[in-house]
Amino acid sequence: MQARVLGCSGAIAQGCRTTSFLIDGRVLIDAGTGVGDLTLDEMQVIDDVFLTHSHLDHIAALPLMLDAVASRRTGPLRLHALPETIDALQQHIFNGVIWPDFSRLPTPAAPLLSYEPLNVGQCLQVAGTYLEVLPAHHTVPAVGYAVKGPSGWWVFSGDTGGACGDFWDRVNKLPLAALVIETAFSDRESTLARQAQHLSPTTLAQELAHLSAGSRCSIYITHTKPSETELIMQECRRFDASPARNAPVLHDIRWLAAGDLIDF
Ligand SMILES: [Zn+2]
Ligand SMILES: [Zn+2]
Repeated sequence: MQARVLGCSGAIAQGCRTTSFLIDGRVLIDAGTGVGDLTLDEMQVIDDVFLTHSHLDHIAALPLMLDAVASRRTGPLRLHALPETIDALQQHIFNGVIWPDFSRLPTPAAPLLSYEPLNVGQCLQVAGTYLEVLPAHHTVPAVGYAVKGPSGWWVFSGDTGGACGDFWDRVNKLPLAALVIETAFSDRESTLARQAQHLSPTTLAQELAHLSAGSRCSIYITHTKPSETELIMQECRRFDASPARNAPVLHDIRWLAAGDLIDF
């Protein structure tokens, strides 16, 4: 299995695209602005989109992507998300004001979009991809995802403020290949991070301390604000190198970039 990073930035700027991962070319996890790098042929074969939550940086390209492939598709694109996320999209995006209601167009009997509600803990198999829905704690209802591969699980935290024991309880039961976890703010912005329910390097370290002893996987940092990325990297490297770090093993922390490929 392969996760292709289409976008992994906390905001936009030249070279910075917001969250979106393409799994084996067929399943999209979040639909941030990174989706705009796909060709029409690549977009056309995506039948399933999984959303972590309703925030704009994770859904921005979804309405535009649907429009781009509308004339090429023969069946609906299945949008998998929490019921609260689906409600938010129906009310605020696909409402006939911001964008057409593609769940009823071109005809109610054969629409371009179908809504597929998810529950935390649910396991699904779509397009040859086996996924599990993980809990996340954010300012709106949110989830993360685990995707099974031959060499282990690729786990994505989604947006999270941490203190999420149920997330780690589940993750520690999976043989991990890769953990993609957000660190949206630097410690300088820790108050804002707490209010916005995002991680900063100090709270990231507290979260990683929940990884079970013996767990050894690649850790990828995502969702950094472009203006703070350099500082966040410095702060993360400092704690990763610290002998006093409260974590069971020293992990190899890396920075994700759009275009990266993670095999698992
Ligand atoms: Zn968010
Ligand atoms: Zn976000």
